[in-house]
This record gives sequence, structure tokens and C-alpha cells, in this order.
Amino acid sequence: MKPLEPQFELLTFYHFVDIPESEIESVCAEHLQFCSDIWLKWRIYIGTEGISSTVSGNLGQCRAYRMYLESTKYFKNIADIEPKATLVSGHQFPKLTVKIRNEIVVLGEKVTQEEVKKYKKEFTPEEFKKILDEGREDDYIILDMRNDYEYRLGHFKGAIPAGTVNFREVPQLLERYRSKANGKKIIWYCTGGIRCEKAAVLANKSGLEDIYAIEGGVVKYVNTFNDGNWLGNLYTFDDRVSTFVGDEKTHTTIGTCLHSGKLTDHCDNCRYTECNARMIVDLGEHKKHMGFCSSDCFEKAINTLLVKDVDWDDIKIGGKQGTYKEIRSLVKNSRMSFSDAQQMVSTHLKKRLWNTTFTHKESQKEGVIQMD
Ligand SMILES: [Zn+2]
Repeated sequence: MKPLEPQFELLTFYHFVDIPESEIESVCAEHLQFCSDIWLKWRIYIGTEGISSTVSGNLGQCRAYRMYLESTKYFKNIADIEPKATLVSGHQFPKLTVKIRNEIVVLGEKVTQEEVKKYKKEFTPEEFKKILDEGREDDYIILDMRNDYEYRLGHFKGAIPAGTVNFREVPQLLERYRSKANGKKIIWYCTGGIRCEKAAVLANKSGLEDIYAIEGGVVKYVNTFNDGNWLGNLYTFDDRVSTFVGDEKTHTTIGTCLHSGKLTDHCDNCRYTECNARMIVDLGEHKKHMGFCSSDCFEKAINTLLVKDVDWDDIKIGGKQGTYKEIRSLVKNSRMSFSDAQQMVSTHLKKRLWNTTFTHKESQKEGVIQMD
């Protein structure tokens, strides 16, 4: 008999609630104690603004966590835990961290519960769906506030890439879209919704524009509807990285391979560890380029030996399957000279790459990304 698949859940939620500065430490310590007792993994931020939590656990552990939240003073009745919960095959991260954060999502300015209530403007997934289903997306400016490669992997119909990390950039951003907006309302969205909800509160508070977030972000929408209004895959910060959206009827592929321009849903990182660029790349092309995003990274990797190990690279040490980590440790322990190691890595990689040319010379790394 086949063993039962482990049933794990990924919970991702946030809640703006005022927690007095004097209680932060004890609230945080208690949360950490409970979550580590029941073996949840991943990360939780708690601050005077509230909580932002992304954890994985088996179904029982996640149920216990929900019950725990209901028993606390500040984290009762949190919206959207259920519609944003996702079944996964196991833990999505090896450890648990619970940290005190000045802002639970960093935009350079804090918000209070009162301000959230007063200035929050958002469309529910149902309302947003209606706009897209009726083809009214052109009546709005729909801004995708995630990173560029996340947008390129998948986004809502009619959305424009507008990736911004800091609220201080928002006025400039709006300036850029103001002429386009022409009186239209602006809708913006991000993966889990927290960044855009907070940014909309700050924007409306400072009287910038009529700005709407999408309640629960992309995660709630794609968990609620399977309607093809989301194009492509969804970039997620857990083990899945590129998450399939929809089914064979509604799914589309819009990502294009960094090297070949072929359509692909696959994401990977550059193997030169100092670069580590996140790339949309066809898996076959990725392997063909030995995992490097550019010729620069390939050369730097040889010069520094900083190559991430993958199970499909067959580099040999003394005739046996080896790893780059082993090579670095041989050098470190003076059992191999640096130049011999470089020679070995260079010969191996150049042999694999003799017939391959890189489309990009320079590293394809993008700016720092913000989790939400
Ligand atoms: Zn690179």
C-alpha cells in the first residue's frame, strides 16, 4: 500500500492591530514559545503595527495555531487566514523565526489600526473579478507592485508592472501614472496583499489619489477563483518558487526564457553565488548554460570557485563525482592549490559550454526584493 501523502498547509496572513510597545516583547516571546512547541516553521514578524505571519505545518499543527491565535488578546478574528491557506507537500522552510519588527511590512512609515480603518480602500476579489470579467480593466490603472521578474512570470490581465519597494517612492510612481490615469482610479496589488493594503492606507491618508488595494492580494484571488484572469504562474517565496495557477483549461504560460526567449513557467537562480539572480528560464536552457545567467557570471564563477552545487552537474574530483563545496574545502585545507582548482573547474565548465553562447554578458540580477 502506498503511504499517505503528508498533508501540510502554508498559512500566510497579516493583521494590523495596535500592540503597546511595552507588551511587544512578551507577545513575541509567547508566540515563539507556542509555535516552536508545535513545530511550525518559517517566519513571523510582530510589531506595534500588528503581525505578519507565514508558516507551514501539518494540518493538526496549523489547526492548533489557528486556535492559539483565537485565544490571544491581539490576534483574534484575523481575516483571510482560510482563503489564503494553501496545501503543500511539506515544510517550506527549515526553521522558525519570530522577530520583533518596527514595521511588519517595511514602507518607511508606520500605520495605526485607526488609520487602517479610516483610510483603507480595497476591492474584494469578487469586485475585482467583476471588473476583469466585464472587460472594464481599461477603466482603471492596474499596477503590479511586485518585482519585475515576478510580473514577467505571471500577472493579472491588464496590469502594468510598477514594482516599488518603499512608500517614499510612491509619490514619484503616481506622478509617472498620473497622466495615464486621467481621472481613473488606481488599483494596485502584491502577492499577499499586506504591502499594498498598507501603501493604500498611507497614500489615501496623505491625500495622494484614489487608490485601491485588492483584498488578500494575488494569493486570495487565485485560491478563490480559477477563471484565467491571472495569466501565467505565481512567484512565491517558499520552496515552490514558481507556482502553477489554474488548471489545463485556464492556465497560460507567459514567462519567456532568459536565454532562448521560449515560453516557460520555470524559475531558477544563477549558480554564481555572488549573483544568485532569479531568472525565468527554461530548464533545458538553464542546464545547457550550466546554470549561469551571463558570460560574466560564468567567468567570475571560475575565478572564485563560488558555484552553487546542483544534482545535474557531473564535475569529477579524482575520477569520482564531486561537488564545488568539496573543491573549495580542498583549497581551504591546502590539499589543492587555488590555481589547480580553477583549472579543474574551468576545464569542466568549458567542456560543457563549448557549444553554447550566452545571450547576456552582464549579470541579470535585479534589485533587492521585499517579502510580503
Ligand atoms: Zn548571474
